Amino acid sequence: MRILVAEDDLTTRSILKAVLMKWGYEVVVVCDGNEAMEILRRENAPKLAILDWMMPGLNGVDICHRLCAEKNPFPPYLILLTARAKMEDIVEGLQSGANDYILKPFDNEELRARLRVGERMIDLQDKLYRAIEQQKKLALADPLTGIANRRAILDHLEMEMSRARRKKNHLWVSVLDIDHFKRINDNFGHLVGDVVLKECVRRISCSIRRHERFGRYGGEEFLLIFPEGENGAEVQAMERILETIAAEDIEAKGNRIRITVSLGAAKWNGRDTMDELIRKADNALYQAKRKGRNRIEYEYGKEG
Ligand code: GH3
Ligand code: MG
Ligand code: MG
Ligand code: MG
Repeated sequence: MRILVAEDDLTTRSILKAVLMKWGYEVVVVCDGNEAMEILRRENAPKLAILDWMMPGLNGVDICHRLCAEKNPFPPYLILLTARAKMEDIVEGLQSGANDYILKPFDNEELRARLRVGERMIDLQDKLYRAIEQQKKLALADPLTGIANRRAILDHLEMEMSRARRKKNHLWVSVLDIDHFKRINDNFGHLVGDVVLKECVRRISCSIRRHERFGRYGGEEFLLIFPEGENGAEVQAMERILETIAAEDIEAKGNRIRITVSLGAAKWNGRDTMDELIRKADNALYQAKRKGRNRIEYEYGKEG
């Protein structure tokens, strides 16, 4: 682990550097507070710092104050190392945001033990951060297919609508629904149905471009978002999806199954709410089903 030592006194600095290196730490040494602050703000900053209180530039307590005010989600673990032994000083030092306070002259074994406490805290913080990131990912992914779930795709649509409004771009959404999917479950069982769903997702993924997104809206329905395309590109993308899905049998646990899908598409008029826009796409989907499935219907006609 890398430790920053900020200390203006040459003797203390040399002793600290020597013992820390002996204990296997990588040591970055500076002798004034401004430099220490600069290093602690860097992206790949040391996660632990030993700061002298009195030194040129910013003092150790100033550094603690500033780092705490910055609301860094990953603040460094800060140890103040100082000869100021009065109770008020200790209280002030800890209140400035330091995690620990060590008096000079320090005892080697005590310093080592306190560094280990710091490492434990940093380790815990790392684990917590990773767990939160993992939870965030899970909260937005559909467990069966791994694509965006309903919440994630609706968040994305909200973002695309405000972007389209700002840039005066057009935006299409479509709702895709697998035709007669219930029959697949009824005839082959749910596990086969799941395989078919996953393969359907794979084929949609292959048929859309990078800036186009889709997510599982519910059951066997998907919401697709087409931003910023050149005129007609969205319609082509939807036609590609329709063809790709119906083009080949799906192999599912020894069965060969052919599916088709229906799509309802709507072009945003820049005024409808998200719910209204989706409802229009849904109405178009209903028309596609009514007219015999395996087709796309457009709320406003192809030209919008
Ligand atoms: P339509 O062409 O009118 O859309 O007919 P459909 O049979 O596809 O429509 P319906 O809404 O009657 O049935 C949808 C089926 O999708 C019912 C449900 O059991 C199935 N389903 C929804 N989610 C899943 C899933 O995660 N796995 C499996 N295997 N089936 C699912
Ligand atoms: Mg000093
Ligand atoms: Mg269906
Ligand atoms: Mg459905």
